[in-house]
Amino acid sequence: MSKKYVYFFGEGKAEGNSKMKNLLGGKGANLAEMTNLDIPVPPGFTITTEACIYYYQHKGKYPKGMKEEIDRNLKRLEKAMGAGFGDKYNPLLVSVRSGARVSMPGMMDTILNLGLNDETIKGLIEAMGHERFAWDSYRRLIQMFAHVVMGMESDEFEELIEGKKKELGIKLDTELNTSALKDLVGKFKKRVRERTKKDFPQDPRRQLFMAIDAVFGSWNTQRAITYRKLHNLSHTWGTAANVQTMVFGNMGRDSGTGVAFTRDPATGEKKFFGEYLLNAQGEDVVAGIRTPKKISKLAREMPGVYRELVRIYKKLEKHYRDIQDLEFTIQKKRLFLLQTRTGKRTAQAALKIAVDMVKEKLISKKEAILRVEPNQLDQLLHRRIDPKARIKVIAKGLAASPGAAVGEVVFTADHAQEEAERGRKVVLVRQETSPEDIHGMAAAQGILTSRGGLTSHAAVVARGMGKCCVAGCEAIDVDYNRKRFVVGDIVVKERDYISLNGNTGEVISGRVPTIEPALSKEFQILMKWADEARRLGVRTNADTPKDVRKARELGAEGIGLTRTEHMFFGEKRLPIVQEMILTRDAKTRERALKKLLPMQRKDFKGIFKAMEGFPVTIRLLDPPLHEFLPRIEELLVEIATLKAKKGSKKRIAQKEKLLNKIEALKEMNPMLGHRGCRLGITTPEIYRMQSQAIFEAACELSKEGYKVIPEVMIPLVGHINELKFTQEDVHRVAKEVMKRKKVKVDYTVGTMIELPRACITADEIAEEADFFSFGTNDLTQTVFGFSRDDIEGKFLPVYLEKGILKNNPFAVLDQRGVGELVEMAVRKGRRVKKNLKIGICGEHGGEPSSVEFCHRIGLDYVSCSPYRVPIARLAAAHAALKSRKV
Ligand code: ADP
Ligand code: MG
Ligand code: MG
Repeated sequence: MSKKYVYFFGEGKAEGNSKMKNLLGGKGANLAEMTNLDIPVPPGFTITTEACIYYYQHKGKYPKGMKEEIDRNLKRLEKAMGAGFGDKYNPLLVSVRSGARVSMPGMMDTILNLGLNDETIKGLIEAMGHERFAWDSYRRLIQMFAHVVMGMESDEFEELIEGKKKELGIKLDTELNTSALKDLVGKFKKRVRERTKKDFPQDPRRQLFMAIDAVFGSWNTQRAITYRKLHNLSHTWGTAANVQTMVFGNMGRDSGTGVAFTRDPATGEKKFFGEYLLNAQGEDVVAGIRTPKKISKLAREMPGVYRELVRIYKKLEKHYRDIQDLEFTIQKKRLFLLQTRTGKRTAQAALKIAVDMVKEKLISKKEAILRVEPNQLDQLLHRRIDPKARIKVIAKGLAASPGAAVGEVVFTADHAQEEAERGRKVVLVRQETSPEDIHGMAAAQGILTSRGGLTSHAAVVARGMGKCCVAGCEAIDVDYNRKRFVVGDIVVKERDYISLNGNTGEVISGRVPTIEPALSKEFQILMKWADEARRLGVRTNADTPKDVRKARELGAEGIGLTRTEHMFFGEKRLPIVQEMILTRDAKTRERALKKLLPMQRKDFKGIFKAMEGFPVTIRLLDPPLHEFLPRIEELLVEIATLKAKKGSKKRIAQKEKLLNKIEALKEMNPMLGHRGCRLGITTPEIYRMQSQAIFEAACELSKEGYKVIPEVMIPLVGHINELKFTQEDVHRVAKEVMKRKKVKVDYTVGTMIELPRACITADEIAEEADFFSFGTNDLTQTVFGFSRDDIEGKFLPVYLEKGILKNNPFAVLDQRGVGELVEMAVRKGRRVKKNLKIGICGEHGGEPSSVEFCHRIGLDYVSCSPYRVPIARLAAAHAALKSRKV
């Protein structure tokens, strides 16, 4: 027997059901399912996605037997409806609708009213007793067919309709009377002939098959392809084509059409939500031709139909156990359902619906957890534009980092910082940002750039900071010289107010009211369930007490990474640090470090206190020393100016000495240079001072009754001897401090695993280390041989676009390559030390698929920036639940 390509639905028991989405597409599968639920669905049949794939693979040919199958099903349909396709007296009309396995709203095509021509229209008028409606349907058919099948612009027809309305002095489509519509049909046909040199096909069978071809063809329109790329959907699935008996919402004021959600998709509130139009056909509601009415009005306009609709929506939601998005049509007070699918919802709604449905006993807690996408939570954690505000959008860029920002426009990072220090709220507007702009970004409410994508510097940094960012807003022209940006004929000057919506990418003129990211009751409930379900611990990467407190609030159970570099910066400290670096004399160095000690001890106390009772992993100094020195270019200018002004000889000599030192420290490739534990080995005083600050802070707090759990982490170890050497000092200092302070604090010393050699020799390293923490950023750099700062703006975008890499490996852990090494290190490490504590502290620790990987390979915890903590908690729960399923 040959393969089955066509499935009937809408009468008796359907041949398909909702489980057959891959074959019948979502629309077809659900039309079949609704039939089986005894819900009124206009009968029809679905041509499978396999037929579509065949059609593509064979240059537009149908598979063997498909045409005959369509004929047989058409006969069955005619019989069911008591009408004939192309019958002059009693014509059957159908729609041909696209529908892939995953809904791609509005991306593909649908054609209504097929089967109408100059002859059958007479029969339709006769059968329905309604002349205006028949002509309205005919003009719609020609309009859609010409557009979808014959490639004309819809506007051409809208123009003719507008002309007619002007001529008659009317406003609405519904006011066009029979003779006006009749006249329009003539004009439409003429326009088709002029433009395409072909006639609108009168033969219904030709119409049908041309429409099927066009629907298959719409799978590969540019917009469908783009949509699939954006949503990571496969291009090989194909679309099904549904041929379905027409029902008419345009038969007068006792007919209509609408769209509804079983709950509010924006808030999740359990309230029927929808819109409808009387005397209209499907497309009108979405297209915004007339403003539709709220569904609650239908209860008054057609109480019987409304009651029926309520009964059906409740039945559907109960059956599918999720919010449904429905399409319905009312033909002379008779209700038909034309589509049902899972409703798309905001994060807020997703949480509320999931939690409510557990209470309603529709779904289990486990299902509720799995229904909320971890990444979606990001939307909830930032200040938002008040949805009730009236706004003027002047441009739209990429929604790079969610939230809202309102402030005065500034164009440089320094200016941003100055203004912020004076207590003003600013939005930093740049063509693009670079690492030098960090301070300005931190000071600004939000960041707007005219260039760069979603992995651009501005976007990545803003997300890390939990700060609103609109990136790559190409419509704006940023002019640094004139201190303004221009979009169309709008000029925005320095100090003008703008607002950004990081959830939509909108740039808005003026100040827009914002609202707090109220973490709803449902958020707390669902997170609690997630915590019960997960095995992985979730810690945070935080360097300041403020960040630590935020992270605690969001559920962090410790610090996975405290970077200590910032403790060497700042007005007071930097000169001391420079003094320490520049001297050759060990005495002077120690004196300088002594001055830093109390300051850093205070820093550590602040952090320990904020994370009381939980472990705190502190990484000893990591970056190359030249980062603490002035830039060579600046120094050269300074010296030249001093010389020109005949400045003091002594100062000039001093500066020149400094210049020599900086030049000596300069490296070809600092990321692979003199940094991390290499620094700790050549200048052991630094790590000693840091250790002393850590243990003095810990001991003093411990005496005050705080529970402190320090974990000292040595960065960039590649050889066991590097760890041995540096660790010895840490232990010695710890012992000395505890003895002096007369108190014992439990602590551990471990290492960051961030070099391939460390992974390969993890068994050796585990002999010495109390814990491992994967620094997946440097590990990715060294495994790929990529320098992150150099690639993200240059060839990585090309790699992603050409599909060389599927994801940015710095955002999504490369499981095949980097992951394999991580796994090896875990295996080797635990072979030596069964209970070796292992975590990950790269940015990947807050990325759901990477978190899932960490769960799978048995890590103890992930660590991420404070605002990603809830995402990691939920992702860890997903990972645990999914792995239990298998
Ligand atoms: P989309 O996936 O873009 O929504 P659809 O195939 O659902 O496309 O159809 C577009 C519109 O036409 C919808 O409003 C739908 O309800 C309506 N429609 C489709 N087929 C029929 C039909 N047989 N009778 C009445 N309305 C229809
Ligand atoms: Mg639809
Ligand atoms: Mg590193």
